[in-house]
Amino acid sequence: MESQALQDEFNPFLSMAKGFDTAADILGLDEGIREVLRQPERELKVSLPIVMDDGSMRVFTGYRVQHNFLRGPCKGGIRFSPDVNLDEVRALAAWMTWKCSVVNLPFGGAKGGVICDPRSMSQGELERLTRRYTAQIMDILGPDRDVPAPDMNTNEQTMAWIMDTYSMHVRRTTTAIVTGKPLSIGGSKGRKEATGRGVMIASNEALKMAGMRPEDTRVVVQGSGNVGGIGAMLLHREGYKIVSISDMYGTVYNEKGLDIPAVMAHLQEHAQLEGFKEATHMANKDQLELDCDLLVPAATENQITSQNADRIKAKLIVEGANGPTTAIASDVLHDRGVIIVPDILANAGGVTVSYFEWVQDRMGYFWTEEIVNSRLEQIMVGAFAEVADTAKKYKVSMRTAAYILAIDRVATVFRLRGIFA
Ligand code: NAD
Repeated sequence: MESQALQDEFNPFLSMAKGFDTAADILGLDEGIREVLRQPERELKVSLPIVMDDGSMRVFTGYRVQHNFLRGPCKGGIRFSPDVNLDEVRALAAWMTWKCSVVNLPFGGAKGGVICDPRSMSQGELERLTRRYTAQIMDILGPDRDVPAPDMNTNEQTMAWIMDTYSMHVRRTTTAIVTGKPLSIGGSKGRKEATGRGVMIASNEALKMAGMRPEDTRVVVQGSGNVGGIGAMLLHREGYKIVSISDMYGTVYNEKGLDIPAVMAHLQEHAQLEGFKEATHMANKDQLELDCDLLVPAATENQITSQNADRIKAKLIVEGANGPTTAIASDVLHDRGVIIVPDILANAGGVTVSYFEWVQDRMGYFWTEEIVNSRLEQIMVGAFAEVADTAKKYKVSMRTAAYILAIDRVATVFRLRGIFA
């Protein structure tokens, strides 16, 4: 049984609130505005009866939390996982508000989740679950209201089902209702790679700041899914030496640098890293403490904590996942001089290209991959510089600086709009 202190440390909403409060104190944010921005604007909990393949009926629980829509429609992914809970969805929704604000997109933040184990479900069961979930939350969805996207264990196919379900209800094809769709139904070029590409851009900028070069940088990547796998591939292409990568079952390590295209081909074929040759295999618990220069946690929350922060050897951490470092661990690492490029900046590439997808769907005019990638680069590099400047100005960590920038922008909109009563 975990102590109360550990439970609090691992509660992502409390972690988010700590980052928020630190930045709000520095900004001298008015108590009333603080109260408004800290709370989600709307939380919806739905029960989802599904007929399983064997004819039995099961009732699943789903959530959609809209944290804030002051700057525009809410934006945020949908996660399918047995671990989904309301505090997690709340934290992820708030992080989306701050993330969209850091990169200055005209969106607020939301997140959705369904408690289920997708690995034990058939495609048919997943389709029925997705459609029922969409139908149950669609009163608060819409291209001008709330636009979902993929997250853990949801993908292009899930988005296609959501788009179709919504479109059937409103009696017209509405591609801009979700992002992360397949290209043939209004997806954007470059969307699948966008979060990994953003991680690569953030890493390049962090390296410049630290006076390091890709070819001298040994990288450990946790997770090999959309963010970790694609991020590792792009970093490898840039000349970084990826010494270790993992999936939920285990870790591979090669101090000379892994052949990442070969690792990804193995993963494609076997659905796990186990069995990959030309590497040492080890348990996941030891991976984050490996000797390296850059650590990219790109799996899930609460991986770098008070329990292992002292043993982390990386000089730079670029957070591909949402909330991989707890607030306590962030402070420990910052005090030791480790630079952390925070999630709300480092993994903002995904929502940025989601924004491009939404714009293209609404225009009915689609961009080339070169245009998508160069606009993404421009936004990420600009946001990185603004966060770095804010960190210098206030003498704070990049995380606190990102919160300061984000909260200030949302608070400005709140003051201008005032309260409708
Ligand atoms: P994914 O499901 O595609 O991949 C997750 C990967 O992490 C898999 O390889 C899985 O095996 C691995 N994993 C899970 N637990 C692990 C553990 N304990 N140790 C090592 N590996 C583990 O998910 P994703 O889309 O890549 O998302 C990863 C993280 O990035 C999440 O926190 C998500 O919220 C965040 N994120 C994703 C996007 C996006 O566009 N996909 C955007 C921003 C943030």
